[in-house]
Amino acid sequence: MSIPEMRADLGLREGYHSPQVEAAVRLNTNESPFSPPPEWVAAVQEELTAVRWNRYPDRGAWALRKAVADLHGVAPEQVWCANGSNEVLQTLLLAYGGPGRSVAVWEPTYALHRHIAELTGTAVVEGPRAPDLTLDEDGVVELIGSARPTVTFLCSPNNPTGESVPDGLVERVLAAAPGLVVVDEAYGQFAPRSAVPLVGDDTALVVTRTYSKTWSLAGLRLGYCIAPRQVVAAMERAALPYHLDTFTQLAGRLALRFVDDMERRVATIVEERGRVAAGLAELPVDVWRSDANFILFRPQARDGEGVWQGLLERSILVRNCSTWPGLDGCLRVTIGTAEENTAFLDALAEVLL
Ligand code: PMP
Repeated sequence: MSIPEMRADLGLREGYHSPQVEAAVRLNTNESPFSPPPEWVAAVQEELTAVRWNRYPDRGAWALRKAVADLHGVAPEQVWCANGSNEVLQTLLLAYGGPGRSVAVWEPTYALHRHIAELTGTAVVEGPRAPDLTLDEDGVVELIGSARPTVTFLCSPNNPTGESVPDGLVERVLAAAPGLVVVDEAYGQFAPRSAVPLVGDDTALVVTRTYSKTWSLAGLRLGYCIAPRQVVAAMERAALPYHLDTFTQLAGRLALRFVDDMERRVATIVEERGRVAAGLAELPVDVWRSDANFILFRPQARDGEGVWQGLLERSILVRNCSTWPGLDGCLRVTIGTAEENTAFLDALAEVLL
């Protein structure tokens, strides 16, 4: 056999994957429970007939970037799109990470921030959260001052805890950070505030967004960032040529015609989030306040694994975070349709009571 061993540091690391087991109610990966509007499907179908499939896509994805830029009131040169916001994050670290450089994260947070740092050979500096899992604001600023990371990751709202970065903290971090500050707003439209208005060519801030949640398009694989022109130019250098295919560019551009529809879906989910939180408050679980489309909770008996299994036996799949560092016994439930949420609350009551 001449197949070499894979990179030794990859062997040490588990991938980030939620088990794709069969269940009638799937509340484990923070997707939207709703489909995009049929008018979007019709518009995509119509434009598809005119595509010249023998040709490479527009390498700069300019029509899509212009549509995203218009949505946020920035210039197209301040927008960069890729296959999911995960690829945006990876490209950022290909451009700005690597040996001799570091990123700062505050665990527990989105596992891919650390994972992508490690994949790109970037050191990870980890700060703790407060015992209630919120950010300790002074601690954040102190760690940045002492560790001087090249890239500081904030996740707002934070996955899996659900809360937004406190008001004013992004500004404090920007003042303290010696490098880039990346605010991951994958759940941004569910939250009360955004860092997008702070982005500008003279500010070392990047905000990432995705089509996977609020736009109901997890199947499309499209994400983007709003960033200074200089950062976008660096990402263009790090990305592979033609990395974003013609279909994704076209489908993502057309989705932005249906902002009202998206906002209605978000409002429905936010309302349901309130109902699920109220339902959880009636049960023997600790619940975290959420600004996103999911809720973190911990059965008071701390038997996360057993409760996860009990839910699965009732065909309800949630995310089992019970063995993740800092999340002992915790589970995370995505907000689904009203029927799915009721099925979840009923099943959880059956398992716990
Ligand atoms: N950031 C956060 C905080 C997420 O939770 C997710 C999805 N789990 C992503 C980024 C990645 O989203 P995508 O690659 O689907 O755009």
